[in-house]
Amino acid sequence: MNERFSGVRNRPTSASGGEPEFFRRMVAASADGFAYLDRDLTYRAANATYLSSWDLTSGQVIGRRVDEIMDRDFYAKEVKPRLEACLAGERVVYEAQLPRRGVRTGWGEVSYAPWLDELGEVDGVVVCVHDITARHAANNSLSRLGEIVETAQTEVYVFDPEHLCFEQVNQGGRSNLGFGMDELAAMTPLDLMPDYDTPTFIRLLEPLRQGSKSQVVLQTRHRRKDGTCYPAEIRLQLLGKEPRFVALTTDTTERQRAEEAIKHLAFFDPLTGLSNRRLLMDRLARAVSASRRSQLTGALIFIDLDDFKTLNDTLGHDQGDRLLRQVAKRLSSCIRETDTLARLGGDEFVVMLERLSGRAEEAATQAEVIANKLLAALREPCALENHEYRCSASMGVTLFGRRPVRVEELMKQADLAMYRAKAAGRDTVRFFDPRMHVEASARAALASRLRLGLDHGEFLLHYQSQVDGAGQVTGAEGLLRWQHPQRGLLEPAAFIRLAEETATILPLGRWVVEMACAQLTSWSERTETAGLTLAINISAVQFHHPDFVAQVFAAIERHGCDPNRLKLEITENLLRDDREGTIAKMSVLKERGIAFALDDFGTGYSSLADLGRLPFKELKIDRSFVQDLVTNERDAAIARTIIALGDTLHLDVIAEGVETEAQRDWLAGHGCHAFQGYLFGRPGPAATSATRLDA
Ligand code: C2E
Ligand code: CA
Ligand code: CA
Repeated sequence: MNERFSGVRNRPTSASGGEPEFFRRMVAASADGFAYLDRDLTYRAANATYLSSWDLTSGQVIGRRVDEIMDRDFYAKEVKPRLEACLAGERVVYEAQLPRRGVRTGWGEVSYAPWLDELGEVDGVVVCVHDITARHAANNSLSRLGEIVETAQTEVYVFDPEHLCFEQVNQGGRSNLGFGMDELAAMTPLDLMPDYDTPTFIRLLEPLRQGSKSQVVLQTRHRRKDGTCYPAEIRLQLLGKEPRFVALTTDTTERQRAEEAIKHLAFFDPLTGLSNRRLLMDRLARAVSASRRSQLTGALIFIDLDDFKTLNDTLGHDQGDRLLRQVAKRLSSCIRETDTLARLGGDEFVVMLERLSGRAEEAATQAEVIANKLLAALREPCALENHEYRCSASMGVTLFGRRPVRVEELMKQADLAMYRAKAAGRDTVRFFDPRMHVEASARAALASRLRLGLDHGEFLLHYQSQVDGAGQVTGAEGLLRWQHPQRGLLEPAAFIRLAEETATILPLGRWVVEMACAQLTSWSERTETAGLTLAINISAVQFHHPDFVAQVFAAIERHGCDPNRLKLEITENLLRDDREGTIAKMSVLKERGIAFALDDFGTGYSSLADLGRLPFKELKIDRSFVQDLVTNERDAAIARTIIALGDTLHLDVIAEGVETEAQRDWLAGHGCHAFQGYLFGRPGPAATSATRLDA
């Protein structure tokens, strides 16, 4: 409203033709009230609308001050401060209850615009009063039901019949759409309905306007602020004395979902009850985009039965169906519930695995392990009518992960790999990427060999001494070795990760605990070794196992060793999940006298802030820092910090991987007086490592 005056910088000129004359006429005829006040707030001009709202004549108004016309309270509270602001150069717009023919009943939007003289000084005020009584009345009548409507589950939209602008939208509507009322006030239903254009919508409202229909129901969509749509059932009515369109709207997403679930029955294979191709493709598309987000790998395994056609032809389709049902059952027993098993038709099955490791080679191993499991399951004889049938399959595997790929492409890859498996003599697995195959096979073989190795007693514990500042052996760290029948003595780097991935670390770790306890007991029997401590490494998987504490206690009991001599080395990554549970577990063990060392310290991202809360006894400076201590200032700084930290938190500090006198001297010079490393002895069997460790 202020805009009407904003461009005018001169006093109104006398009414004598030309543009000013048109302005005068426009103002005179306007349905809005206009008045002009000078600097003293004295009326200089007012149009008919303005005068009639006060029920006064021009003579009663012109030349009089504003406060003489208005009643004192109203003037003081509503008008005076605003007029003063306007005289100071501000434009003011507000809503107020206004006189209507002298009685204060109506509502108006009042604006004060400063009038500027040639020098840009405020010289007066242009008053404009726009009657908004009707809008207020409409709002008021609605506000009676307002609260109920506002909080109703159903979305309620009220819009005016003339411009179709929203006047009210309840909370249900606003929150589903994501628009605020201020935004909606500038919108019409058409802005929400992507399926309608203006003429269609207006035609739709016609029967309501004419009263030939009391309600119009639409099944359509509403578009949210974020651009997404939801299915909506809209009931349109024209209601009220001052009629308004009211749209009661239900978000039918849930209903549609239920309907879809019924439709989904059409997504299953009637013979086996497995997903059919359509459902598989759907899930695959979702899995592909999910794995791009999660950075985890997925695998698609194509399975084709060998010689199924022969069976079908010789024993008949009944027997064929029977076999397919048994195959379905066996395959599904080998996979997790979250994986998908589908039958594409005939003797073709597909397994989709999700959330495998983020590292491709690990994922390949995981997929290969499962594929081998599937192959093994199928090799078991199937019971057909008076017949035992031996079945096998060829499988093709392809992986998907970070990189975008079309599902059809993946299906092709897995299919191709499956044909390679057929060509390789059937009853076998091939990867789409042949390099994957070699690597995955080797790892899968090693993984299954690990378990066997444990059963065959191929593991041993080597010991590496730990010494004090005077070079006296105070204890040892037990380090695992695998005496592999073909590959010789393997160090942990070759198998620990794999053991962790395949959970073999659980029995393997348990074995280490047993060994350690047995060793401590045997040391306790000789005075020279009775005082030694033994540290062993504990994997996160092992530590977090619910039975871990019980297993350690049981081993101590069984071997009758002194728990005060046992030290568990854990790494920072173990502290990442379930911090509270970890602290609790550590505390229970500590209470029995078992000590904890924080291994590889400095390589992770431990929050130093709560290191003090954790029941550690010792920090182990990682070998990587010790290595270049003497030459690398950064490593030296880290070592210094760890030593200082140990000092502050009253923790022992031991340096591992000490190979040279220079390293030892540097460490001793900086306050670290416990060492482990080749300088003092390499890891070896108890009988041959540092003499003092001899059992
Ligand atoms: P770690 O706990 O940091 O063990 C220290 C590693 O440094 C050992 O390697 C040891 O042989 C090596 N080392 C010791 N002194 C020196 C030295 O002066 N110079 C050099 N260059 N190396 C030195 P190892 O035995 O190959 O063990 C590697 C890792 O395997 C261990 O690192 C530990 O994280 C893990 N590990 C070993 N045994 C077990 C076990 O029983 N259970 C579990 N979960 N992990 C184990
Ligand atoms: Ca260690
Ligand atoms: Ca270490």
